[in-house]
Amino acid sequence: MISDIVIVGAGPTGLFGAFYAGFRGMSVKIVDSLSVLGGQLATLYPEKFIYDVPAFPKVRAKDLVANLVTQAMQYKPALSLGERVQRLDYDPEQRLYSLHTDRQSHITRTILIASGIGSFQPKRLALENAGQFERSGVYYTVGDVEDFRNKRLLIVGGGDSAVDWANALCDVAQSITLIHRRDTFRAHEKSVEKLMCSSVRVLTFHELKAIEGNDRVERAVIYDNRSQAEQTLEVDAILVNIGFESTAGPLAHWELKLRGAAIEVDATMCSNRPGIYAAGDSAWYPAKIKLIATAFGEACNAINHAKHFIDPKARVFPGHSTDVIKG
Ligand code: FAD
Repeated sequence: MISDIVIVGAGPTGLFGAFYAGFRGMSVKIVDSLSVLGGQLATLYPEKFIYDVPAFPKVRAKDLVANLVTQAMQYKPALSLGERVQRLDYDPEQRLYSLHTDRQSHITRTILIASGIGSFQPKRLALENAGQFERSGVYYTVGDVEDFRNKRLLIVGGGDSAVDWANALCDVAQSITLIHRRDTFRAHEKSVEKLMCSSVRVLTFHELKAIEGNDRVERAVIYDNRSQAEQTLEVDAILVNIGFESTAGPLAHWELKLRGAAIEVDATMCSNRPGIYAAGDSAWYPAKIKLIATAFGEACNAINHAKHFIDPKARVFPGHSTDVIKG
């Protein structure tokens, strides 16, 4: 089957793009390497509140995803989850793109790349035995806050994720110690202030040296990186938030003009290849700001231009939804 548009990535950008493409009467397929919809919101911070999405003074990431999915699914886009897009071919005679994943190929007239920060994953601990505890006490993301209820928790890191989780889990965990290798935090000032007034024990200039335990995490050996003095903490869980690693991945070989790992786009969100659009974290243009709020506008812009690209008689402006959608 030939799609009007294949959307690579089912984060907020891809999901809103899918709604908009359906609204414009386009046949849509969403491809994502993850098995869940929602991108970073679903995988990296489902339980966190977001405060800067229009019309939501405060919304939990997983609830925003649920609403985006409801909105997108109205037009029944085809879903190909658990498939990583790898290769791209173009047939100039048919004017069709083929997107090859690790499972199959998808033929399409246009593409919206909404692949976010690319194939991303949390940075892992460099400790030899850390991998062995990944399902038994070492966490890199929080899927469910209940995993930490009444636990003695060690959080490693000094960025937004570490500080926000320390604040959010304060009333859930039995106790929290946060260690950070410096005395300056890469987190929002207000969050750091909140942390410092909370019951969390904050140890700056401290790093993790070893994890001990049998079937699961039982102790963590930490050390002061100035004096090298060690101490052993009795802990049930270790939450590691030391950043993420991402790469442009396969996009680097698609003859797209890139800025770092992001795709350079024009005012219509089109890349240097006709019919290939980008929006959200995977798009770059001067003064770009990577936020969910800006991504929604970019997706809307990209889809309306893709519609006009496929059918030049179709107007770019979609009309007002209040007029177009009845009932
Ligand atoms: P993503 O959410 O990254 O989704 C991209 C999707 O593409 C992923 O599902 C990925 O699996 C898929 N993908 C990538 N490569 C491939 C491939 N080759 N094949 C198939 N699928 C692929 N923003 C705000 O506006 N407000 C906030 O308060 C806020 N808080 C944040 C807190 C944290 C802890 C983090 C990490 C981010 C936060 N952000 C916030 C940023 C926000 O989450 C991103 O800007 C947003 O997720 C970008 O959406 P996206 O759809 O462009 O990309």
